[in-house]
Amino acid sequence: MSHPGESILSAREAERDELRRQISTTVDAIMASYDDDGAFSGIDPYELRERIQALDILPEKGIGFDRTLETVSREVLPHMLRTWSVDYMPHLHAPSLLESISSELVIGTYNDSMDSWDQSPAATEVELAVIRCLCTLFGFGENADGCFTSGGSQSNLSGIIASRDAWCRRTLGHDVRRYGNPDVFRRMRLYTSEISHFSMDKSCHLLGLGHEAVVKLPVDDRCCIDIARAEERIARDVEAGLLPFCIVATIGTTDFGSVDDIASLRRIADRYGAYLHADAAYGSGAVMSSRYRDRIGDLSLADSLTVDFHKMFLLPISCSAILVKDASLLECFELHADYLNRVEDEEDGYVNLVDKSIQTTRRADALKVLFSFMTQGRDGYARIMDTVIGNAEYLYSRLCADADFVCPVEPTLSSVVFALREPDDVNRAVRRALLAQGTVIGQTVKDNRVMLKATLLNPALTHGHIDALIGRIKACRDALKP
Ligand SMILES: *Cc1c(COP(=O)(O)O)cnc(C)c1O
Repeated sequence: MSHPGESILSAREAERDELRRQISTTVDAIMASYDDDGAFSGIDPYELRERIQALDILPEKGIGFDRTLETVSREVLPHMLRTWSVDYMPHLHAPSLLESISSELVIGTYNDSMDSWDQSPAATEVELAVIRCLCTLFGFGENADGCFTSGGSQSNLSGIIASRDAWCRRTLGHDVRRYGNPDVFRRMRLYTSEISHFSMDKSCHLLGLGHEAVVKLPVDDRCCIDIARAEERIARDVEAGLLPFCIVATIGTTDFGSVDDIASLRRIADRYGAYLHADAAYGSGAVMSSRYRDRIGDLSLADSLTVDFHKMFLLPISCSAILVKDASLLECFELHADYLNRVEDEEDGYVNLVDKSIQTTRRADALKVLFSFMTQGRDGYARIMDTVIGNAEYLYSRLCADADFVCPVEPTLSSVVFALREPDDVNRAVRRALLAQGTVIGQTVKDNRVMLKATLLNPALTHGHIDALIGRIKACRDALKP
């Protein structure tokens, strides 16, 4: 290319043709990069590192798109993780719905930014409409609002900041945005399950409250907060002068998919004037299920709600939202800059979403939700959720019926934690052996025992695949025996 302008899309046919050509050859390269159904090539990490480090990433003279794609096709694509594989189930890490991959192309091509209306006119209106749709879906009502974020961690952080600020204003008459944490900050407490996501600890650190502010409540044998013990603990803490400002219900724990009893936690929060945040990063997808919807409880009881779309909803990373039942909760993020979100804009109908967000420049992720919600509809998403949760039930029933396995917690969502009735070392070695064969399952710990984990987010998985997986696990175990 002779002129740098030729690298940018324009109304001229030349650049449009070039973009069409690049996208089409990229799609071909992706399709050609794998020829089996495995999740991973199985390459050794040292070899992969050496090959990638050998690439001349910033050459003196650019090699052009075709040679770059050729290099990437040879050295990178074959060893990318293939999330669409039915052999991939270690994490809450999902394959992307086809239409959502196309929507990423729209987002990247236009590259709108969600901070101000003049950077994203249609995308701002799409986000507003999608947020409205989500507020209705989760029963949050007319006064609710929300904002897209980079993921569940940022959604949780946003919800916890909003709770802290609102609690300080309401309870202490203290303005945190202006003056920082109140003098009593060392006594403020956030209550959450001992198996909740570590973004609770990270958030309290970032808020200047520290990890000590996070009280981990014990769980029962279903891996849900033990409500009686939670009540006891909080009552004791309050007696001792501690200040509960927020309770977090986990709606789908990362490992077990277990769901805290949100109605009971609402009652406790009300007793002490605390806010209730629901971390439904995982479990929110079940709202679309026709068969299992009740399993996540009534999420409209929360003051704020984390929803991840890059988990059960099967959208490309990253895509998440924070919803708040009272729109004023998000006002804590509002600041004005002369160059960006002038106060007068709002009066003339120009909504600047930066007012509700921790981020400034932000991707138009709500478009992915629009694409997939419209493409799939309620019925398509119901089939997806019913399939993945049903698969977890099937795997659990097979493992319970098999004397070679233990399976300590009945699944609520789409995750099953289990182990071979063998020493920890054998379970660890089985996972590694499967990885080298391109089958990727998870590993965690329960009651000090190493456990294996299947996170079944892929609706392409069938009972036949599940039977085959059990067979492969046993074969790996047998191959380890001397
Ligand atoms: C995944 C997860 C998170 C974090 O979400 P990210 O999108 O990874 O930032 C938070 N809470 C729970 C329960 C999760 O499963």
